[in-house]
Amino acid sequence: MHRNTLIWFTNNLRLDDNTALDRAKNSTHLTCVFIEPSSEQRPNTFGFKSIGHHRRLFLDQALASVDSGLRSLGQSLEHIRGDLTEVLSQLVIRDQIDHIVFSRHVGTYENQALKEIVSRFPHLTTEAVTDHTLFSERDLPFPLAELPNSFTQFRKKVEHLALAEPIEQPTLLPKRPGDLSEPLQSPGHHSNDFNGRESAALAHLHDYFAGLLPSTYKTTRNGLDDWACSTKLSPWLALGVLSPRRVISTLVTYEEQVVQNDSTYWIYFELLWREYFQWYGHRWGNKLYHQRGPFNRSPLTTFYAERLRSWIEGSTPFPIVNAAMKQLSATGYMSNRARQLVASCLVHELKLDWRYGAAYFEEILIDHDLASNWGNWQYLGGVGADPRGSRRFNLEKQTDTYDPEKQFIKRWKGEEGMLPLDRVDYHDWPIEMK
Ligand code: FAD
Repeated sequence: MHRNTLIWFTNNLRLDDNTALDRAKNSTHLTCVFIEPSSEQRPNTFGFKSIGHHRRLFLDQALASVDSGLRSLGQSLEHIRGDLTEVLSQLVIRDQIDHIVFSRHVGTYENQALKEIVSRFPHLTTEAVTDHTLFSERDLPFPLAELPNSFTQFRKKVEHLALAEPIEQPTLLPKRPGDLSEPLQSPGHHSNDFNGRESAALAHLHDYFAGLLPSTYKTTRNGLDDWACSTKLSPWLALGVLSPRRVISTLVTYEEQVVQNDSTYWIYFELLWREYFQWYGHRWGNKLYHQRGPFNRSPLTTFYAERLRSWIEGSTPFPIVNAAMKQLSATGYMSNRARQLVASCLVHELKLDWRYGAAYFEEILIDHDLASNWGNWQYLGGVGADPRGSRRFNLEKQTDTYDPEKQFIKRWKGEEGMLPLDRVDYHDWPIEMK
């Protein structure tokens, strides 16, 4: 048994099915912390912040919700901004920590901080738990180094594996070593339908599976603008407010009690995509962010600032892309189909370095998840896990198929403010516009 345990909350911002809490329950004392790297406030190499206003609000709601859940058990959550290693070091000294539990994470800084902290404090033990994925590394029927290079090969190897049951919320937790920290304030409502509180996540999960929507998911999932066309679970899953194991167990109950069909299977199928990108992130580490990807391919390296601006603002010559980008900027959310279209546009029509798209998504998405975002961008940028190597979507055809009445384009004003691809010529002189 450990004397003083620190739970470093990362991508498991919940009390339900939280293995870290379960592991810490027999310690003498327990400290709970969420650390926000101060570097996240500054623009990164690509000129974007790591977190924008949509996710900021959602994250603060999630943190306040964890804090209030912990308070009902005599605990609390500290939310500290600073350098990860320094904050962890100070907590280890302050609370005489001898054990750190954390949910396994694909973030480079998180993993570097852990390495450093262990070398600074040789008495410390650390434990990585599986709270962000369905399977643990031990469950995978292959060594991580042999992760298949394509989703299909991965899916075939894992889809029949047994899944662990979710763990219920703790009813008792060890005391903190000192006084409770100040309560975290929950900010008000968002302009969209997402609320970061755990109770909102569980209520949404319950509502989605209370009706017939899951039984038609496969036929509706490509919708561009309809709340009910897909599960809308991504923001809660991304921040770990909702456990993927809880989602699967709800899905299995639905299949047992209501209906099991192609659509219910497809929800599992999409969650396996998520699973694949998580392990892809663990397998390739830093290469998840490399321009040439893990396989050292040669993507486009051109860059036009004006085209990037036009893509972000939604003023390209492609109405469907503009509508989706305006929706993203207003709500922090975009459907999967539209994400594929805007990414294809950035890479193939605007001929921009895919990492600018990924970095903008990282800032603006309410459901940003490092592995899912950068993994999907590598895939569409032609440097990732796509066996076809490149995927260019015909934007006109896609509009005819998914927005035949142009309702989505009209609602998000995709035809307003359109500009030619380039307004300056090779010598940077303005091109005269008609
Ligand atoms: P549903 O269709 O209901 O799917 C159910 C769940 O399966 C989702 O909540 C999600 O957790 C998972 N899922 C579905 N499709 C994918 C996929 N292609 N890759 C990984 N997981 C998937 N998803 C994120 O959660 N965070 C991201 O940062 C992110 N960035 C993306 C960037 C690009 C360029 C693209 C093409 C896709 C990205 N996705 C990302 C995947 C996908 O678009 C969203 O998960 C989905 O649109 C969320 O809506 P939903 O919850 O209704 O999905």
